[in-house]
Amino acid sequence: MDLNWYTKVVYRSGVPRITLGAVVCRPPVTVPGMLRLERVTLREIRLALKEPFRISSGVESERRILLLALEDADGASTWAECVAFPRPNYTPETIDTAWLAIREWLAPRLLGRPVAAASDVHNILAQDIRGHNMAKAVLEMGCWGLEAEIQREPLSLLLGGTRLRVPTGISLGIQPAPELLVERALAAVAAGYRKIKLKIQPGQDIEYVRAVRTALGAELEIMADANAAYSIDDADHLIELDESRMLMLEQPFGADALLQLAELQRRMTTPLCLDESIIDVSRARDMIALGSGKIINIKPGRVGGFAASKAIHDVCRDAGVPVWCGGMLETGIGRAYNVALASLPNFSMPGDLSPSARYWARDIVSPEWTMDAEGMVHVPRTKPGLGVEIDVDFIESLTTRSEVLSSRSVTVSVR
Ligand SMILES: [Mg+2]
Repeated sequence: MDLNWYTKVVYRSGVPRITLGAVVCRPPVTVPGMLRLERVTLREIRLALKEPFRISSGVESERRILLLALEDADGASTWAECVAFPRPNYTPETIDTAWLAIREWLAPRLLGRPVAAASDVHNILAQDIRGHNMAKAVLEMGCWGLEAEIQREPLSLLLGGTRLRVPTGISLGIQPAPELLVERALAAVAAGYRKIKLKIQPGQDIEYVRAVRTALGAELEIMADANAAYSIDDADHLIELDESRMLMLEQPFGADALLQLAELQRRMTTPLCLDESIIDVSRARDMIALGSGKIINIKPGRVGGFAASKAIHDVCRDAGVPVWCGGMLETGIGRAYNVALASLPNFSMPGDLSPSARYWARDIVSPEWTMDAEGMVHVPRTKPGLGVEIDVDFIESLTTRSEVLSSRSVTVSVR
């Protein structure tokens, strides 16, 4: 049963009298072009990585992935991917907290509720629900995917994308020795990658970056990502990285250390790029105002979805700050969303948009994502929606748990 809750305020001699009431209502009528989510299916799959991926806070050898299948009341459907990791080592969220947040608080906000456009979903999910950006993002981005299906339009065009091809870089995990990292970097350059990102941590940093710079020559774009592994006490040490003339150093300090990051940026010539710190457009403005960094890595999952990503993109464009799209070891479903986002005009640096074969023996989409000899990923522009087919049978065989949330099994209140 659907209930419409209302409050009525009647003033008598200037004194308000408030009444709370509810009326049983017929299901809302969907008008053409309008979204109304009918069903959301959560699925956890496990997909083995081709090789373990090590960053400063841990190693991943198998990816537990939360996927959503979203269905509209009029029969349109799509898939979306939550980028949360199993452990809270990147942000506080995990797959399990995202599952809980989607089931308990987020999906009930949307199921059965008519929404004029996917761009409205961010605000609907943001109201009085703090945090849980990755859980919000998978639902919000899924609504963009659904709207693209309903409008029969490629997702990149719906977002306002302008690029037909987007340059891609590669992210190389921490290796046991500099020579092994050099080997991988050389192979990546040979494969056509446009930017080489090296994960670093204390003890495996300066000489690793120096070895790669020496092997690759002065021209190639290299960068390092510390995933918040250092503190301001390491400033003198990190400044030694300036000698390697990197494109950027990503997130050397913790997410909340904007003032210390600004201090380091004043002392370093290498531009700082912020990742974990940028959780919304407000933080992006703070970074720009404080001088805590000069570049932003936008991951739509980290900031709550596409509307927030676009807002950050626009603020950075207006301030002359370049952005690029980071990766979270996504499958081909998450990649479809990232490639669409990276087709926006201010994504002017190569993103971490590696082809499917970089991480997976077999991806869950077809065709799998590939890159051309110039290190470019082609943006799907001829098919509506995500631009790839979802291999539902393969997903079924990988599924370890699932749950269906339906507009008929929840009571939705509309104010
Ligand atoms: Mg990063």
